[in-house]
This record gives sequence, C-alpha cells and structure tokens, in this order.
Amino acid sequence: MAYDDSNIFAKILRGEIPCDKVYEDEYALAFRDINPQTPTHVLVIPKGAYVSFDDFSEQASGEEIVGFVRAAGKVARDLGLVAPGYRALANHGADAHQEVPHFHLHLFGGKDLGRMIKPSEK
Ligand code: 5GP
Repeated sequence: MAYDDSNIFAKILRGEIPCDKVYEDEYALAFRDINPQTPTHVLVIPKGAYVSFDDFSEQASGEEIVGFVRAAGKVARDLGLVAPGYRALANHGADAHQEVPHFHLHLFGGKDLGRMIKPSEK
C-alpha cells in the first residue's frame, strides 16, 4: 500500500491540524488520542512516511527504528505509566481495524487494562 500524505497524521506532522502534543524529537511525535479509550491514551508516530507497522518494520532505517522506540519508551516513562503498567499496541490492516494509514503506536494506561484479548473475542 502506497503512503497517502493526505492522511490525518501527516497533516498533524505538517502542522496543518492541531494536536495535544506530549513529546517531539527528531524521530517521533506523541500526542493525545482525540477519542481516548483509557484515562491515558497517547499516540506515538514516526516522523517518516510509513503506512503501518508492517511498512515501518520493513522500510525504516535502523536509526529511525531505534529513535522511534526510544521515544515511545520515554513518553511512557514521562507520563508515569511504567510503575502502574501500560499497553503499547499497533494496529495493521483490516482485521485490526487500522483507521489512519500512518504508523502509530497506541500507549494505553491509567487504569487496569484487563487481559489483552477477552476469551469471548477469540
Ligand atoms: P487506529 O485504529 O488506526 O489504530 O487508530 C487511530 C486512532 O487515531 C484512533 O484511536 C482515533 O481516535 C485517533 N484519531 C483519529 N483522528 C485523530 C485526530 O485528528 N487527532 C487525534 N489526536 N487522534 C485522532
């Protein structure tokens, strides 16, 4: 799938649409989800144009991958999520209901998140 630079996160990266920013560096931007599913729900996105985790994991440089992962970990620490615990999740493609075609890592926290997948949903 080719990257479409009209997606909403590309517009946020270009500053065309505002976001509630929590962190930014050379490799990543982190901002609060507009429709939070948990008390803390932050999205971490790479600065580069990658459609999904699949695209990022295959095409991004080692420097970009390290920079992105370091940034995501720092965001979780800075938000105080490490001691209570948090979930990092990336949706790719139709079965995962990925909505925005720019790779993003969800950071969920601020409550007991329950088990990863409910038995009834298997
Ligand atoms: P996905 O289903 O693609 O993994 O998740 C996309 C996420 O982006 C959703 O949780 C949705 O609420 C969030 N989102 C969609 N549009 C915007 C926006 O314009 N601003 C922010 N901050 N989040 C958005």
